[in-house]
Amino acid sequence: MHCVVVGGGLAGLASAVWLAEAGQQVTLLERRGSLGGRTIAMPLTAVDDVPDNGQHVFASGYEHLMRYLDSVGTREHVAFPGHMTMRMPGGATRESSFGGLTGLRTALGDLPGVTGLDRLRTARAQATLIRQALRQPGWLDDITADEWFRRIGMPQSARDALWDGIVIGLTGDKPDISSAKVPADLLVTGIRRARATRTPVSIGYPTVDLDTLFIDGAQKAFADLGVQVRHRAVVRSIDVADDAVIGVTLADGERIAADAVVCAVPVWNVRGLLDQVPGHEQIYAAVEQLTPVPIVSVNLYLDRSIGMTDWGEILYGGEGVLEQVWDRQRMHGRDASRNHFYSTTVSAAYELTGKSNAEITDIQMAMLRRYYPEASHAEVVHSHVVRMPRSTFAQRPGTAGIRPDQRTAVRGLALAGDWTRTDWTTTMEGACQSAARAVDVILEHAKQPVRLRLRAQATKSSQFVDRYSRKRGPTDSATR
Ligand SMILES: Cc1cc2nc3c(=O)[nH]c(=O)nc-3n(C[C@H](O)[C@H](O)[C@H](O)COP(=O)(O)OP(=O)(O)OC[C@H]3O[C@@H](n4cnc5c(N)ncnc54)[C@H](O)[C@@H]3O)c2cc1C
Repeated sequence: MHCVVVGGGLAGLASAVWLAEAGQQVTLLERRGSLGGRTIAMPLTAVDDVPDNGQHVFASGYEHLMRYLDSVGTREHVAFPGHMTMRMPGGATRESSFGGLTGLRTALGDLPGVTGLDRLRTARAQATLIRQALRQPGWLDDITADEWFRRIGMPQSARDALWDGIVIGLTGDKPDISSAKVPADLLVTGIRRARATRTPVSIGYPTVDLDTLFIDGAQKAFADLGVQVRHRAVVRSIDVADDAVIGVTLADGERIAADAVVCAVPVWNVRGLLDQVPGHEQIYAAVEQLTPVPIVSVNLYLDRSIGMTDWGEILYGGEGVLEQVWDRQRMHGRDASRNHFYSTTVSAAYELTGKSNAEITDIQMAMLRRYYPEASHAEVVHSHVVRMPRSTFAQRPGTAGIRPDQRTAVRGLALAGDWTRTDWTTTMEGACQSAARAVDVILEHAKQPVRLRLRAQATKSSQFVDRYSRKRGPTDSATR
């Protein structure tokens, strides 16, 4: 079959490579001049370096993302050190881990800033939280994570030390916005995977920039497998006839015929593309409810080391809602003879996005100085602020089950992307799991009885003459 994949983010890249591995002929259409979507490197000539658009961390249960890295040959560039550090104002540190002795201490309520009776309350609330996550009460999707914590009596000190950060880390949004069901579902996913693999969930990171990790290998695989990639190809509609997909139309009017299409655009770009798909109103209604969440990342090049002891450190009681600092020297084995590169991430950065670059840099530097005594005299050599107003999406109460399935009512059309229904929320793994499911839908379509395929083909041929014959060039795959 000729399969068109719309969107060159992780969901589209994984769909394209896996369809091609399965022997299909693939054309990948990306509206920008480069691939990668929300996971990209941003070369900076001022400091001759290649920072990312934001730190992307891995969880040990990311099996589909790892399968993608296997397909493009870059799995070796991910490290799982098994720990992160929590840093207090003034510089004190504490290792954070969900396994071993540290994990046990956490389960017993021994968290930084949690003292006296609150430890007992924390241990009890945590046990209730896990129980309710595993056997979910019907009201879990009616309330926010904030309300859930209050109902189970989680002390504020334990929320500050751990739980609010976990909710933001897992859901991408603040506890008073996110549905309680979202972190609950993710905790269950984590617990099940930890049980299956008999290892505690751990956090990992790329040891190279995101283009080297996700794109360079993909481009090589595409060349080997004959995938055609077209940049600046903005798809305007996915075309359907007799409940079967027949191709796509680009913004400039060009039509590309296809036997199958994977639509892997982000949630905020899907409106309009599926107008010919029966049931699209329901998909668009879901889209309305998955609202974008901003992340602000700052790539800070400093004249000296700030004395981090771990690759990534979570700042306890930080300025924003979840503050993390990443040491690129440690993570990438980077040479620090010219400058020291630290990257900071503020998730759910609703307030920060409106500030100027200089203000954001000042805020982040003041924060580093509060937590790292060695940063007190550090000078900024170069600051690179990356605002991503549409980084992830929020899932508010009452939205359980609204994310659409990869299978659509149209033969040969599948949806993919982190916003479609997966075991995860808005993550790289969600994007790749959606791709795996979309590819299954398409390969199942490829196996349908020849009689049905021929009927769809006949419809397509007549539509093709009517609708696709006006604009065809030598490189246009519609000429197939
Ligand atoms: C700063 C930041 C930090 C993050 N941190 C983490 C993290 O630590 N861990 C984690 O797991 N996840 C993280 N995420 C989330 C993760 O990056 C996303 O969930 C994932 O990359 C989404 O992939 P996708 O393919 O679904 O969408 P996208 O990456 O958005 O790709 C969609 C592609 O479709 C293209 N497109 C759109 N419309 C059209 C059209 N009409 N025609 C053709 N092409 C079109 C777009 O240009 C884009 O390239 C983070 C995201 C950001 C922004």
